[in-house]
Amino acid sequence: MTQRIVLTGGIASGKSTVADLLAERGAVLVDADLLAREVVAPGTDGLAAVVDRFGAGVLRPDGTLDRAGLGALVFADAAARADLNAIVHPRVRALAEARRAALAADSDAVVVEVIPLVVETGRAGDYDVVIVVDADPATQVARLRARNRLSDAEARARLAAQASRAERLAAATHVLPNAGTRAELAERVDALWCELTSP
Ligand code: ATP
Repeated sequence: MTQRIVLTGGIASGKSTVADLLAERGAVLVDADLLAREVVAPGTDGLAAVVDRFGAGVLRPDGTLDRAGLGALVFADAAARADLNAIVHPRVRALAEARRAALAADSDAVVVEVIPLVVETGRAGDYDVVIVVDADPATQVARLRARNRLSDAEARARLAAQASRAERLAAATHVLPNAGTRAELAERVDALWCELTSP
């Protein structure tokens, strides 16, 4: 039985950076953010369900989902957000499971699922290995502001909408501290990769 591995972390903690480092070392990634786009692509039953719930006004003229428009709508309305999650999350889970199973059956691939909200959605317990990229909130805010050109208040609001650092750390089997340099992070990923791939 291959082990199930998930990579997570707070916003701007360094998940994508770690995912890239793991992929360089040979991990095969299954990225929940990409799957979340796939399950509402044109022609999917996911998109049909979104249109049923929110109306054709959430479509662009070319028939693709207006993600920014829908995002603004659900950001302001908790019930709408819950409805959207109820459409998207089960489909993402099913697709992730199918991808992971196919990859695991095919080869000795070390499959790493990248799921930013695995703690928030209560799914961390489904995994044998829960890798949490950890940075202190001040570092997250600084990186978020630098990358997304946000004000301090906007960056803090995005952090506040997520699980707390303590909640995420409580779910971790492996923590990758990332408040230091990229070189330090790469060394930690090397050590983790050795552990994940040693029999
Ligand atoms: P998001 O939650 O927004 O998807 P993320 O957790 O995937 O973000 P990254 O995109 O990997 O985080 O990193 C956030 C920003 O911080 C990026 O601009 C990245 O280049 C930078 N960064 C990550 N790790 C370090 C580091 N150790 N030193 C300096 N900058 C870093």
